[in-house]
Amino acid sequence: MAYAVFDAPRQITRSSIIPTQAWLNPLVSQLMSCEGQGALEAAVERLGGGRPPRRHPVRDRFFCRQQVEENLRHAPPELRPERMRGAFHWHTRDSDGKGTLESMARSCQRRGAAWGVVTDHSRALEIASGLDLEGVRLQRRRIRRLNHRMQDDFHLFQGLEVEILEDGGLDLPAAEREELDCVLVAVHRAFDPDRDQTERLLRAVSTPGVDVLAHPRGRHFHQRPGLKARWSKVFAACAGEGVAVEINGFPRRQDLDFSLAAMAAEAGCQFFLASDAHAPHHLEFDAFACAIAAEAGLSPSDILNTRQAEDVAAWLDHS
Ligand SMILES: [Zn+2]
Ligand SMILES: [Zn+2]
Repeated sequence: MAYAVFDAPRQITRSSIIPTQAWLNPLVSQLMSCEGQGALEAAVERLGGGRPPRRHPVRDRFFCRQQVEENLRHAPPELRPERMRGAFHWHTRDSDGKGTLESMARSCQRRGAAWGVVTDHSRALEIASGLDLEGVRLQRRRIRRLNHRMQDDFHLFQGLEVEILEDGGLDLPAAEREELDCVLVAVHRAFDPDRDQTERLLRAVSTPGVDVLAHPRGRHFHQRPGLKARWSKVFAACAGEGVAVEINGFPRRQDLDFSLAAMAAEAGCQFFLASDAHAPHHLEFDAFACAIAAEAGLSPSDILNTRQAEDVAAWLDHS
């Protein structure tokens, strides 16, 4: 199987897994909608002012939608999106999402999930109007009421996507981390391409109360290759600390890619597959994460989304 985004799938079919969303940036739209031999290559060439695209790290190991579909057709059934019990990592209007807490939770449930983890941004990410302590507590009250209303049909965990600062410190004091069900840590800025960021990530994942390292590289399709780090060391630390690593299926992220995901599995890591949805229809982006997991050869037992809500609650309590 070919991996680069420019390697067109062998079979061209129209599918309804993920519709093209006009409001997404044009590059993401290309990842979603390109059809036919060389279509995406032609699109990138247009974006580059007519220069023929070459293989480049910022476009390497991305799947387009057709590749996702083809991959999933051959994937073990346990790794298909409809077999995931949990909808992990999504945003609401409380930070930079477009849906309300309730509409997002109900969309997860309608897609067949038994549990979800909402993960709005922490306050340092001003660009995403992150939640301060007061905001986190207000959201928690709404989550309790929602869980009460939804009873056994669905359980919502409160997570927070906490910014990893430039020195590896976190944008959330220890006492506040303890109040949350799930603490994801992630880098959204200070991508110095010349700096090895291993120590920054090691400090972040070994901080008490951290549960998940989200989109570890922080790459963006066609825009930035993401962090440079000694990944074997980072994954060994995650495995040792009981911190899960995320495979983020948002099309422009696809982070970890399948080769790094395989390396993380080798190191003994467990995984959450994430849509990083910022609107209800984005929840389907978990298909990209499933395809990456399948390509990496991950075992379904290492993927926490396959577990029951009680098992996930117990895992989050002990991690
Ligand atoms: Zn993020
Ligand atoms: Zn996010």
